[in-house]
Amino acid sequence: MSDCIFCSIIKGSIPAQIEFEDDRIMVFKDINPQAPIHFLLIPKQHFDSLMEVDSKDGDIVAHIYMVAKNIARQRGFDRNGFRIVMNCGQDGGQTVQHIHFHLLAGRSLQWPRG
Ligand code: 5GP
Ligand code: ZN
Repeated sequence: MSDCIFCSIIKGSIPAQIEFEDDRIMVFKDINPQAPIHFLLIPKQHFDSLMEVDSKDGDIVAHIYMVAKNIARQRGFDRNGFRIVMNCGQDGGQTVQHIHFHLLAGRSLQWPRG
């Protein structure tokens, strides 16, 4: 996906503040943070959205959640709590067509949002 912003971040052709990376995923700061801590967790493999992910893609979604949990523990915001959000499609508010999970922390978050 040559025109995908998040694939460009993975390739390094667009800069990002990277928090964590392994062979399967990357975690970086959201450019427009909605909370004191706002990371995006993405698989390195391009999927337009959750609708393209299926069981043959292994445990990528579970892996993303486990990495989020580890970051929360390492940074200490597991104590006060956090939120993981995945927007899917137009009504879900998805604006970047490469599946991503928002990890938000550092303030009391309201619900429902919008
Ligand atoms: P969505 O609305 O699709 O769930 O979330 C997309 C997120 O990507 C938004 O929170 C937006 O601020 C973030 N974003 C869009 N372009 C860039 C970029 O070039 N760099 C970074 N770090 N975040 C981006
Ligand atoms: Zn992509």
